[in-house]
Amino acid sequence: MIEKRSIVGSIQLMRYISTRGGGAPQPFLKILLEGLAPDGGLYVPEKYPQLSPQELETMRRMSYPELAYVILSKFADGIPPADLRKIIFDTYTKEIFGSDNIVPLKKLEAGLYLLDLSEGPTLAFKDIALQFLGRAFEYALAQSGERLNILGATSGDTGSAAEYAMRGRVGVRVFMLSPLGRMSDFQRKQMYTLPDENIFNIAIRGTFDDCQDVVKQVNRDSEFKKRYKLGAVNSINWARIASQVVYYFWGYFRATSSNVERVSYAVPTGNFGDILAGHVARCMGLPIKQLILATNENNVLEEFFSSGGGSASGGKTGGVYRPRKGGEVAVTSSPSMDISKASNFERYVFDLILRDRSRMQELWGNLQTKGAFDISGSPDFSRISETGIIAGSSTHAERLNTIRSIWEKYDVLIDPHTADGVTTGLKHREADVPLICLETALPTKFANTIREAIGRDPDLPVHFKSLVTLPERFEVYDADAELIKKYITAHV
Ligand SMILES: *Cc1c(COP(=O)(O)O)cnc(C)c1O
Repeated sequence: MIEKRSIVGSIQLMRYISTRGGGAPQPFLKILLEGLAPDGGLYVPEKYPQLSPQELETMRRMSYPELAYVILSKFADGIPPADLRKIIFDTYTKEIFGSDNIVPLKKLEAGLYLLDLSEGPTLAFKDIALQFLGRAFEYALAQSGERLNILGATSGDTGSAAEYAMRGRVGVRVFMLSPLGRMSDFQRKQMYTLPDENIFNIAIRGTFDDCQDVVKQVNRDSEFKKRYKLGAVNSINWARIASQVVYYFWGYFRATSSNVERVSYAVPTGNFGDILAGHVARCMGLPIKQLILATNENNVLEEFFSSGGGSASGGKTGGVYRPRKGGEVAVTSSPSMDISKASNFERYVFDLILRDRSRMQELWGNLQTKGAFDISGSPDFSRISETGIIAGSSTHAERLNTIRSIWEKYDVLIDPHTADGVTTGLKHREADVPLICLETALPTKFANTIREAIGRDPDLPVHFKSLVTLPERFEVYDADAELIKKYITAHV
């Protein structure tokens, strides 16, 4: 019996392919520690696992970690079940996420919900993926006997989530570049007060873009990269996406009473990571009606989706994806969504064009040579509506209004990113379809905007009050890749 099952398991092992078509299919443990595929593409599963009605029915009654195990075991099937189970049950705990629900569903009124994804250590939804990733990395490194040095750049949220996930992990060091004097007090305190010896905070005299340029330059030195085992934790990592698929299922089961019902999700979007997880959940058979993509003033994605599946912005043609240049990115009150290009969008487009690799090379070739591609008028574009995605954007004034009205109407305080989602979500809400808005950060992190919206400061969670008095550990450098390489060399 055991033998038969293990044979079946090995036949069904999930493999990952690159969106650009190069290289042989790879197992999960191989792609876990890698960023981009060698051909510059992103890894995606060969096929999305499909869930039967019976499976969905059993999943409805599971606890969060049980549900996470069932879903993640379909993607990470190279990890022995008992090991994967331990990683997941160590990750999604009351100690780390504040309650046994892990992501509580908050009802605002009949048919309108907030899914609280921000109850983790750094008060933003990135904890859900990174807490899992930290443990999965430690496991994979222990198996192979390797070490990993994570080099990253942050404007605030990603850096702290990564550092809290990797602190104290065996085999992992984190070198995180942040722009000196440009993060909120809260974000700075959160990162710089960590005492762990494997965490290195490097404050760069410059902007976030300068930090990111340094990271790119260091990575371009392939010899250095290989020698010092440089890795990344950005959202192109498939394990991050897979772990986010889970809460779309969880939210659906909490908001409905049977699997014939459908729900829609409103998703604040930057790098297209979060909403891609929704797309994957929908492809796996979760009854999602619409995935409402919300951007702020940096609306590259709204532009692409407009009028494809029926968008807010009537009149625009849509179908054009034109990433912005650095200088064209506006600084907004939802800074984690201030992006010039949406990295994970490539995975969605791959599905949209029915995984046709020559078409993919044509489109990404156009991106390189012309700075944009255009699929308007093609069958690819009309296929958008089948994927359920519609898009919209909000302005600073609309976000303030939404924060105020949700506060006054329901006594619930939301952060500016969540407000992006709620604003666009409400514009597209349908009478008979429950709408679940994803909460991606707690308001505490963005006190200035909250003050502007409701005239008072958000409460500081008790365990963060002590942060203010802790000493800060960081070193200051110019934006110079050679200096950063020397720093890494001296600290590994
Ligand atoms: C990262 C982030 C987003 C955007 O998520 P993507 O996966 O990049 O689309 C939205 N809100 C907050 C608070 C974030 O930190």
